[in-house]
Amino acid sequence: MALSDIFDLIKRYPWLSSLKKYYSDIASKDPINFINEIFTSNKTEELKNKILNLFNDAFNNIEQMTDYDFDEINIFIYLILRILLYILNNKIISNRIANIYSKTTYNELNKENEYNLYYIYQDLNLEVIFEEQEIIYKKIVVKDQQELYKTNFKISYIDYLKLASNLKDEYRRLVNNALQHGYVYIKTESLNRLLQEHVRSKLLIQNNEIPIDLEKFKEKLFEIQEFKNLFDHITNIWESKKEEFEYSIDITFKEGLDISELFPPCVKEILSKAREGQNLIHTERLFILWFLNSLKYPEEKIINVFSTLPDFDEEKTAYQVKYAMKKGYTPYSCKSLKSYNMCLAKAYKDKLCIEGYFSKLQNEQKLISHPLKYIEVQQYRTSKRSQRSENQIIDKK
Ligand code: SF4
Repeated sequence: MALSDIFDLIKRYPWLSSLKKYYSDIASKDPINFINEIFTSNKTEELKNKILNLFNDAFNNIEQMTDYDFDEINIFIYLILRILLYILNNKIISNRIANIYSKTTYNELNKENEYNLYYIYQDLNLEVIFEEQEIIYKKIVVKDQQELYKTNFKISYIDYLKLASNLKDEYRRLVNNALQHGYVYIKTESLNRLLQEHVRSKLLIQNNEIPIDLEKFKEKLFEIQEFKNLFDHITNIWESKKEEFEYSIDITFKEGLDISELFPPCVKEILSKAREGQNLIHTERLFILWFLNSLKYPEEKIINVFSTLPDFDEEKTAYQVKYAMKKGYTPYSCKSLKSYNMCLAKAYKDKLCIEGYFSKLQNEQKLISHPLKYIEVQQYRTSKRSQRSENQIIDKK
């Protein structure tokens, strides 16, 4: 590949390993020197605007970056983002930024030709083979219609497993893919989706610094006034949006009545993962969709729960939500959830889930058999409690 093409690819995808080689002057710089140089240069204003736009997009739940160019600035943005997320040290913000950034990357990758894609896969040290002749690796026949799955790419199963390790959907399991002689045949969109996950994880930098070191690092960075202004601006936007974020999944059974506190651990866990912008596997998505639907949550509120996910697509989600509402599926029972390893009674040390409840009607201790039953029992207990306290007030009077 011509050198100029490689430089162009790195500008589009600064997370490539080639960055270190071809832009070593930028990539290997000490972070404080890097920030100092860039925020005292004539690029400062443009950078600040673009970064603020990105944070605004992410906080406003927009699916794709609205201000994304393929110039050198894109490289600076990527590097500054990593530093900003590191010092912001906020899981929700990191997930939001990582999601919108990686989703934009995915959409861009899908526009690349096979030649560029092959370079990208090689750059990431993935054992990917390009076959000149398209291979038909799967055939699905429904009634008289047949669908052929073709691809030019195959990836070693080891690299496939590495890339797919965070995506736990059933259909991504090795046994459910076309595997031959140690290679998985895969469509470019699916391979790019795995790369999306790789890019996402590159921005979710684990902050293992002991707080005192992080504070020292921040102090040094904040001596650079323009950078400090940018940081303050971002935290101000966050402060004004925070509440909206934290309560975005406060869903009411009846308008004005919040029952999310009554949710069982299996539901709370999924909602909390969604709120943080983590991936949900297919089974988790179905379960939460059917669960909220059984509680008659409005369509837009259900869509809102999914809006934080890395691969959120409003149109598709709206279609799936509408479909589920029409069909009226019942959410999984505790037995099914246990078989999917989605029961979190023990992890949450939840007394009601572990010990069950006493049924006056049947005069016996019963175990929770369904998450909706859990809510029913909790609701009953809550109403009894408030009735008791009301009576006490009347007695005192
Ligand atoms: S016992 Fe049932 S309701 Fe409770 S966490 Fe497990 S699956 Fe959910």
